[in-house]
Amino acid sequence: MSAAGMTVETPDVLVVGAGPAGLAAADAARNAGARVVLLDAAGDAGGQYWRHLPAERPAANERILHHGWDRFTALRGQEILTDAQVWLAERHDDRPPTLHVLVGPADGRDRVPRTFAPKALVLATGAYERTLPFPGWDLPGVFTAGAAQALAKSERVAVGRRVLVAGAGPFLLPVASSLIRTGAEVVGVLEANGWPRLGRGWSRRPTELLATRHKTGELAGYVRDLARHRIPYRAATAVVAAHGAGQVSSVTVARLDPRWAPIPGTSRDISVDAVCVSHGFVPRVELAVSAGCGLDAYGAVVTDHDGRTTVPGVYAAGEITGIGGADLALAEGVVAGLAAAGATASDAQRRSLSENQRFAARLEAAHGIRPGWVGWLGDDTTVCRCEEVTAGDLRAGAAATGSRGLRSLRLSTRAGLGVCQGRVCGRTVEELLHRHTGGLLDPGRTEQRPLAAFVRLGELAAAEEQEHS
Ligand SMILES: Cc1cc2nc3c(=O)[nH]c(=O)nc-3n(C[C@H](O)[C@H](O)[C@H](O)COP(=O)(O)OP(=O)(O)OC[C@H]3O[C@@H](n4cnc5c(N)ncnc54)[C@H](O)[C@@H]3O)c2cc1C
Repeated sequence: MSAAGMTVETPDVLVVGAGPAGLAAADAARNAGARVVLLDAAGDAGGQYWRHLPAERPAANERILHHGWDRFTALRGQEILTDAQVWLAERHDDRPPTLHVLVGPADGRDRVPRTFAPKALVLATGAYERTLPFPGWDLPGVFTAGAAQALAKSERVAVGRRVLVAGAGPFLLPVASSLIRTGAEVVGVLEANGWPRLGRGWSRRPTELLATRHKTGELAGYVRDLARHRIPYRAATAVVAAHGAGQVSSVTVARLDPRWAPIPGTSRDISVDAVCVSHGFVPRVELAVSAGCGLDAYGAVVTDHDGRTTVPGVYAAGEITGIGGADLALAEGVVAGLAAAGATASDAQRRSLSENQRFAARLEAAHGIRPGWVGWLGDDTTVCRCEEVTAGDLRAGAAATGSRGLRSLRLSTRAGLGVCQGRVCGRTVEELLHRHTGGLLDPGRTEQRPLAAFVRLGELAAAEEQEHS
């Protein structure tokens, strides 16, 4: 098909994202007989979970470094368009959006534009990591745990020699294990939630854990790693400041109360040359928002039991619909892929989905962020690193303008308007402004990014020329 000189491809199903959810969705849709295009901005399939060494430098035995590697090798056998960045979703009210894609290495000069108008679209774009700010978090040597994990998995590089891992959630455990394997000394793993909450979250309805026992086994393996290397795991404890001249050299850690407020008199310093911090994940929804999909109170895409979003013909699967881990992403991918291809999931596939959904509910109950973290901030603590906006700037901006509009407050303080466009600080800025204003009138706008990715002006101009030729 050709519109205004541009070739528009029309697969039955287009899947964006070749992580666990997208791989499973595309595979299921193909098996149901659909013509499928599966694409991903990364140079290889696997998403965040199956991040691995590049093909030109494979590990001798990659299988032992990953969970579910056999499932991955089966799924990666399908045709996948890699280095394919969706940068714009052109919205239509009655059908899936038209997607504009640039194909080629992100740092290359000759990316090729392609346009897709699929009959059905599955969005499986995953999540961003969430890191709460604290004094000194912008020092070199402070990493997000995901960045440390990515370097360990895809480069076998440790971010430091003496490393502390801190934040909230079971993700801290695989990060510590990966760091051990790259030769780093992990001096501790700090979980912000206390044992009572962890116990309540993980032990409720214990028989349900049987259904996901391989996941529990995976966690037990990480715990064994910590025990073998005598790495302390401390609950109700957090890094509340990082120190150093030009590079982190120590951190202050403190005990937290159940709301995550530091308990006075409990802080102590630990010397480190790197610290890895993660407080959870935020669904990556800019394409879904551009497509017009509805979001829930956690900023995740709302779906029905088949992965259908609120936009006709648009489905979503994986962390974009809520944070629940790779197994849930796989299960959601299968169901959404089948539905997008016009097929129906079996009872066993639906059972797998609900078992993994119950596992995900434990994660939130045990590890979700608590409001006392704002007690870690000083007025001069940077919140938006790109535009160097501090916690004090946000408070002063809200007081000076009297505005309750997120958009106007972001424009006046410049928080979230820098290079990352709020991908790192967006939720934090929203939460702080929510407090300072007594309630924002337009929460959730951070995710509205008309362009889903960086595009060169030359590429925009070339796309425009092609459309009008
Ligand atoms: C930094 C980070 C590291 C993580 N590491 C681990 C780990 O080691 N172990 C673990 O258990 N869990 C890890 N997780 C959690 C993990 O993301 C999930 O449990 C699982 O990978 C979710 O699968 P998914 O398919 O939903 O998303 P993902 O695996 O994140 O896959 C989403 C894919 O969509 C692609 N994509 C997004 N937007 C576009 C676009 N506009 N155009 C084209 N492609 C696009 C991305 O390149 C990505 O490959 C990590 C999460 C993050 C954010």
